[in-house]
Amino acid sequence: MCGIVGYIGERKAFPILLEGLKRLEYRGYDSSGISLLNGELKTFKKKGKVSELEKFEEAVNSHATIGIGHTRWATHGKPDDINAHPHHSGNNRLALVHNGIIENYGTLKEYLISEGHEFRSETDTEVLVHLIEQIQESKNLDLESAVRYALQKVVGAFAIAVIDREHPNIIVGARKSSPLVVGIGDNEFFIASDATPIIKYTNQIIYLDDDEVVTISRDDNPQIRSLDNKLVDYHIEQVDLKLEEIEKGGYDHFMLKEIYQQDESIYEAMRGRINAGEGWVKVGGMQDHYNRIENAERFIIVACGTSWHAGLIAEYLFEELARIPVEVEYASEFRYRNPIIGPKDVVIALSQSGETADTLSALELAKEKGALIYGIVNNVGSSIARITDCGSYIHAGPEIGVASTKAFTSQLVVLTLMALDLAHKRGTISERNFQALISEFELIPQKVKKVLQQAAHIKSIASEIKSASNALYLGRGYNFPIALEGALKLKEISYIHAEGYPAAEMKHGPIALIDMYMPVIVIATNKNAYEKIFSNVQEVKARKGIVIAIVSEGDTEIKKIADFTIEIPNTDDVFSPLLSAIPLQLLAYYIAVMRGCNVDQPRNLAKSVTVE
Ligand code: GLU
Repeated sequence: MCGIVGYIGERKAFPILLEGLKRLEYRGYDSSGISLLNGELKTFKKKGKVSELEKFEEAVNSHATIGIGHTRWATHGKPDDINAHPHHSGNNRLALVHNGIIENYGTLKEYLISEGHEFRSETDTEVLVHLIEQIQESKNLDLESAVRYALQKVVGAFAIAVIDREHPNIIVGARKSSPLVVGIGDNEFFIASDATPIIKYTNQIIYLDDDEVVTISRDDNPQIRSLDNKLVDYHIEQVDLKLEEIEKGGYDHFMLKEIYQQDESIYEAMRGRINAGEGWVKVGGMQDHYNRIENAERFIIVACGTSWHAGLIAEYLFEELARIPVEVEYASEFRYRNPIIGPKDVVIALSQSGETADTLSALELAKEKGALIYGIVNNVGSSIARITDCGSYIHAGPEIGVASTKAFTSQLVVLTLMALDLAHKRGTISERNFQALISEFELIPQKVKKVLQQAAHIKSIASEIKSASNALYLGRGYNFPIALEGALKLKEISYIHAEGYPAAEMKHGPIALIDMYMPVIVIATNKNAYEKIFSNVQEVKARKGIVIAIVSEGDTEIKKIADFTIEIPNTDDVFSPLLSAIPLQLLAYYIAVMRGCNVDQPRNLAKSVTVE
């Protein structure tokens, strides 16, 4: 949440910061702002999208070569011009941008008011910039020391960047629990929440660790110190990210591009980890700790949102194939309920960004209690990737649409590979079954391509139900979590109220809602419980609900009674979520577009949830 960017170098800072903020807009988009230093400190900020900043002529024409910018996802104080970042110190000497929450801002604010500070905004952030000012002035410290001092008094999560009118050749940044990276260019330096605003200029990146403070200056290498003032050695990484990967590339929205990339992203998640010809599956991330993983008493999967749905599917996979008991937990609940965890547990975290605050804290807790912690993330070098004992990247490439699509299916691929690898080694499935499953698995990218070819048909169904106010999603077994995920997609981007249910549970409540206006999306591809789900469809039809059924190719029975059907290729139940998720993503996408919603940046949401 919130995107931060900073630039110091020889070029005009404003266009670089503006473009950088546009790249970071997926992290928050309720207001934005830029501060520039050119003799004077000038701040331009506005409620709404980053493009609002283009209207500040003075900023556009400024020759300033140092500045910081921010795109906000409000936690404290409404989204308006005043609460937008950057925030100034009382003496207007400092400007600061912040991602995170200052939890003890109330106490700090009282103290600062007693010292004569006056506040302009309702944010927690403004308290921090006043605190730095207070320390700088009362102790007569340079900017970096004042920042370190101030942060020692702060409870909470932060990534910050600060500039100082009296020191126009440096930017100071710091992080704790919110991401921050430094980019090293040719006589120019960058600071940002992630590498996307930087990659156009350099691929040389330093990932900051928690409790580190960095100073970037025009004419020196970056300097990093710990909060307690020890010089930190850092290493510069070469980031493998291409500009095309973070652009729409001809699609109307990032979400559509990402849906369409799934045949490739699924293949990328499998590449090098499976070979049906030679008959093996190998998940590299498990290798170093194989013993502990194979003999785990229990897997605990922690995740939030869409990743939590992938976790639920993994529960079916690990239990059915590898016979390992699994619990799936919302990270935010898990971390606060004093869970029972021990050294025989393996805690698996699922997070696209690798920065999800609750998931990160859940892992820290599990680590403290001695469990082995395993991360499944997309963003290379992210906080979760760095604190886990071991893990696997999903290699989905940048996912920019706020509603997750390709990261979800790639998470499923990695989880399925892990389940198959463990099942094979533990001998919980027969060799024949294993070989049959991996041969089928390798066909999935091709089958995904076939599902994508149905986009036009799915669009026509979307136009039939686009005006609904509610929708119900039903599925069984592996496809129950897909019902939850389908409903979540629709809610997120079209603002239609939707609920996902296990199909049989419908009778215990939601059936009361069904009438002729209620679209009911049924995922009916299961081989195992086909008759059962067929009965559920009949129950919906008997109450005049509108049935949209996702069925396997060649289905005859459900097709006869459903109002609309979407056929997907036949596959084993184990892999069916990889196919059935896709029509639901497309359905939500087209409905949202038809309702005029901003698909890539739905209201109130942000992609990388770095606050609790
Ligand atoms: N707490 C700050 C604000 O509300 C930053 C929010 C965030 O990082 O999402 O302005």
